[in-house]
Amino acid sequence: MKALEEKIKREGKILPGNVLKVDNFLNHQIDVRFMCEIGKEFKRIFSDKEVTKILTIEASGIGIACITSQYFDCVPVVFAKKSKGTNIGDDIYSTAVMSFTHGNINNVIVSKKYLNPGDKVLIIDDFLAKGQALLGLCNLAEQAGADIVGAGIVIEKAYQEGRALVEAKGVRVESLAKIQSMSEDGDIVFC
Ligand code: 5GP
Repeated sequence: MKALEEKIKREGKILPGNVLKVDNFLNHQIDVRFMCEIGKEFKRIFSDKEVTKILTIEASGIGIACITSQYFDCVPVVFAKKSKGTNIGDDIYSTAVMSFTHGNINNVIVSKKYLNPGDKVLIIDDFLAKGQALLGLCNLAEQAGADIVGAGIVIEKAYQEGRALVEAKGVRVESLAKIQSMSEDGDIVFC
């Protein structure tokens, strides 16, 4: 998606530790008009698929998933939670996910009520790096006996191993911007 690549080049900042900061349109302040273009693009890419639910992980995935849902007939959005609040109950699917940005392990959970056998799940997330978030979401969908239609990623750091790990599970991965390399002096090359 050319407009996304241009926006990343214009507005993104590269932080130490291989982190691309895009918090003025994706991860903190959200450019809603632009997110609508992202949602439309996911719909175009997955237009051949029936989707009954969109699955993502808190926090940054939620806004993208909700906007995307509007182009998929407003199917429900379910987000994996990183902490088990007191009111969620014990009827949950759970899996451990190593956080790329924080380096800690979160036990992420989804209530069994909201993922069911027969669901056709489109997974949406902001970034794909080492694949741990995506693998965790696939694991939750599998525990529920749901079908995974594919994974839609806004920004993929294609030089990291995430895509290979997720594709090895037979999951289709579609990214709107694929970064081939980036350096701390601000240089970003797209695939
Ligand atoms: P993975 O699990 O694939 O290693 O990393 C994906 C998750 O880590 C995403 O949900 C995203 O929140 C975060 N992440 C990974 N790389 C980056 C990055 O370069 N910038 C930002 N802002 N988040 C990232």
